[in-house]
Amino acid sequence: MPRTLITGGSGFLGSHLCDRFIAEGHEVVCMDNLITGSTDNIAHLMGHERFEFVKHDVSNYIFLAGPVDNVLHFASPASPIDYLELPIQTLKVGSLGTHNALGLAKAKGATFLIASTSEVYGDPLIHPQPETYWGNVNPIGSRGVYDEAKRFAEAITMAYHRYHGVDTRILRIFNTYGPRMRLDDGRALPAFMGQALRGEPITVFGDGSQTRSFQYVDDLVEGIWRLLASGEHDPVNIGNPDEVSILEFAQEVVALTGSSSEIVHKELPADDPKIRQPDITRAREILGWEPRVDRADGLKRTLDYFRDAVAA
Ligand code: NAD
Ligand code: UDP
Repeated sequence: MPRTLITGGSGFLGSHLCDRFIAEGHEVVCMDNLITGSTDNIAHLMGHERFEFVKHDVSNYIFLAGPVDNVLHFASPASPIDYLELPIQTLKVGSLGTHNALGLAKAKGATFLIASTSEVYGDPLIHPQPETYWGNVNPIGSRGVYDEAKRFAEAITMAYHRYHGVDTRILRIFNTYGPRMRLDDGRALPAFMGQALRGEPITVFGDGSQTRSFQYVDDLVEGIWRLLASGEHDPVNIGNPDEVSILEFAQEVVALTGSSSEIVHKELPADDPKIRQPDITRAREILGWEPRVDRADGLKRTLDYFRDAVAA
C-alpha cells in the first residue's frame, strides 16, 4: 500500500487531496500546523485506519518514521490577505519548508511534488501563459513574499532533481475554487459569495477589468493525480483557460445567489496581475488532461457549502 505525505493537508486543496489519495487506497499522512487550515476540513477522515494527522510546522525539520512513497508539498499561506499578514512564514515555508520536504523525499526515495502557482508569472507580459514564460514578478513588492518563495521552491526542486536524482514534479496551479475555502480568506470567490449571501456590498477591486481563469477543485485534483503518475519533471500548468473579468465574475455570483447586493469598487491592491490565463497545451499532451467542470456548474456546486458556512 503506497504511503503519501501531504503537507498543508488540512487546508482547502490539501484536504481534497487527502480524500482522493484515501479513495485510491493510499495510506495518507496529513501534516499541517493549522496556520491557515482547519481540522474541520479533515474531520471526516479522523479515525480512518489509513489516515494520520500530524500537527507540525514543516519549516522545521520533518521527522517521519517508516516508508514514504510520495511527498506532496502544499503547505503555504495561499490567499493574498493570508500571505500579506504572514510574510515571513510564507517565505520560510516556501524555502525552508520545501528544503525539508525535499530532504525527506530524498531520504525515503519518495516522489516529490511541489504545489507551485501561476503567481510565478507575476503580472504577465505574455498571454496566455505557457510554462516556458519566465514571468514578470516584483521581488520586493508586497506579493513578492509569495511569488518569490514559490520561484525559489521550483528552483530547489529542480536542483534536488538534477543533483540528487530525486523524482520530482512541479505543478503550477491557477486560481482554484470549491468547497472548504475559508469564508474569510479574502480571495475573490469566498469574498463575493459571502457578501452576496449576507446581502452586503460586493467589493470589486479596481474597475474589475482584471481577469482570472477559475478552475473547479475536482479538475485540479485529477490533474495532480495524473501529474504524479506521469514522470514529468518540468513544470506543468493546471488550470481552466476560461478567462473572465473580475467584474463579470462578481455579477455571475450575484445572479447565481439571487442576491440584491450592489457592486462597489475598492482600491486595487499593489501588483495585482491584470490578466491571467493558463496555456494548458502541455497538460493536454503529457497528461491527457483538461478541465471538465465549467464555471456555471462549479459555482453551483460551491454555493451550498458557502450557504452553510455563512449560516454557521
Ligand atoms: P490553504 O491556506 O487552505 O492551505 C494551506 C495549508 O498549509 C493550511 O492548512 C495551512 O495551515 C498549511 N500550512 C501553512 N504553512 C505551514 C507550515 N509552515 N507547516 C505546516 N503547514 C502549513 O490554501 P490552499 O488554497 O489550499 O493552497 C494550498 C497550496 O496550493 C499552497 O501551497 C498554495 O500556494 C497552492 N496554490 C493554491 C492555489 C489556489 O487557487 N487555491 C493556486 C496556486 C497555488
Ligand atoms: N478581488 C476583488 N475583490 C475581493 C477579492 C479579490 O475584486 O474582495 C480581485 C483581486 O484584486 C484579483 C482577483 O479578484 O484581481 C482575484 O483575487 P484572488 O485573491 O481570488 O486571487 P489572486 O489575486 O491571487 O489571483
